[in-house]
Amino acid sequence: MDKILVYGGTFNPIHNGHLHLAASFEKITGAQRVLLVPTRVPPHKQAKELACEEDRLAMCRLAVKPFGWRVSDLEIRRESPIYTADTLEQLSALYPKARLYFLTGEDMFMTLLSWHDPIRILRSATICAAPRSTSGLAQMLAYAVKIRQAGGEALVRDVSYLPVSSTQVRRAVREKQTVHTLVPPAVESYIAQHSLYGEPD
Ligand code: ATP
Repeated sequence: MDKILVYGGTFNPIHNGHLHLAASFEKITGAQRVLLVPTRVPPHKQAKELACEEDRLAMCRLAVKPFGWRVSDLEIRRESPIYTADTLEQLSALYPKARLYFLTGEDMFMTLLSWHDPIRILRSATICAAPRSTSGLAQMLAYAVKIRQAGGEALVRDVSYLPVSSTQVRRAVREKQTVHTLVPPAVESYIAQHSLYGEPD
């Protein structure tokens, strides 16, 4: 059975930490495809430093090109809110013969059972996650047990943590520091060419 790794995030902007996490889980799961799904940020939650949807998508596409991965605009192009449960069901319908692996970071993983319609999420995909903090692994393994008790499958792996965040990238750009160790060169150029992240949050 084909395996597809689906990675959702704001990606504002995408950075090397995201790429490292996805590459690690591509190996762990043996996925044949990796699909990044940048999330739509509702207007009331938009921060001043949120790059527009086209820019976030474009940066994701540039970043994943060397890996041969794809970027989906499924969430971003929607006018109305879309929940992860809907996204995963739509992807299951698009790829009926594939098993989906849904990748999230520690913060998102630890709240998954309180998301909208978690049972539909668990029915659609195996949940994959890795810690982003030193204390993360133990609590994530405990949460994986809860996911299994709820009927889902969880794959928590202690992949090495690359300490990069989008906040750090935006701050570095604002302070006119180099971001070349934080994002791929094509993303660094895109940020400069489009004058992104010049204003404080
Ligand atoms: P921000 O700094 O703006 O909050 P972020 O760096 O956390 O952004 P997101 O797009 O929100 O980036 O991340 C998507 C998912 O990837 C989240 O669940 C997050 O925890 C996870 N993630 C982000 N960066 C890393 C990293 N360096 N290592 C592991 N997981 C990460």
